[in-house]
Amino acid sequence: MNPPINNVKPRKINILGVNFDDVTFEQAVSRAAELTERGGCCVTPNPEIVWLARNDREFLDTINAADLVVADGVGVMYAARLRNTPLAAKIPGIDLAAAVLEIAAKSADGRGVFLFGAKPGTAERAAAKLQAKFPGLRIAGVQDGYDYDTPELQARIRGVNPAAVFVCLGSPKQELWIRDYIARYPEQTSLLIGLGGAIDAFAGVVRRAPEAWRRRNLEWLYRLLKQPARIKRMSALPKFLLAAMFAGQSNGNES
Ligand code: UDP
Repeated sequence: MNPPINNVKPRKINILGVNFDDVTFEQAVSRAAELTERGGCCVTPNPEIVWLARNDREFLDTINAADLVVADGVGVMYAARLRNTPLAAKIPGIDLAAAVLEIAAKSADGRGVFLFGAKPGTAERAAAKLQAKFPGLRIAGVQDGYDYDTPELQARIRGVNPAAVFVCLGSPKQELWIRDYIARYPEQTSLLIGLGGAIDAFAGVVRRAPEAWRRRNLEWLYRLLKQPARIKRMSALPKFLLAAMFAGQSNGNES
């Protein structure tokens, strides 16, 4: 079981085995900020990820061992409501990442952020855009998500000791990568956060849904229209909602 942060242990809401932290956006940011100092892992499961984890014990255990588990996407919110255990807030990983970038940019220690993942050249493009958007932000390093040697990369990241590492390899790869990094360096003090396509979004390679779509909880539809190939992956959503509705109640605090 993870130690509480600031002596406050948030309530857990269990959805198909995944124990989500029942936190507001502000609480999630404050916990993430603490993790940039004491080190730890944050995961941002959406329905696709929960659906993937239900048949993969190793992946599920990895998610549930994280220090912060936030509900990325309206699908998880609907599922929680259908189960009569509503979550306090939807916390898109990319918004949490933006908050972490702001914290890192303002921090006097200048440890900065390491961007890991996406196709070659994309993290560099994201770095340039982020530095323009968050004045004072230090990019502690970049690494594409295809051509790397894990032990060497782990040592490189440990060497620069960034405030945060954005690990953007898709799931379950990114979560397992983070787990292995923390297992190798249990005393490390970075926040490692799994963020899927966030580097693509920060680089402008993939456009995020406009605000009006996001407000209406239609980010998933915008993504589907822009990337129709996602239809197969997204077919998990109705199955996920039905399964969540009919699954037995269990409380994540009991385990
Ligand atoms: N990716 C990677 N290495 C891999 C597989 C994927 O760096 O071996 C990257 C991919 O280029 C993309 C991201 O991982 O930038 C996954 O994006 P996706 O949109 O699938 O993630 P989501 O946001 O849906 O979780």
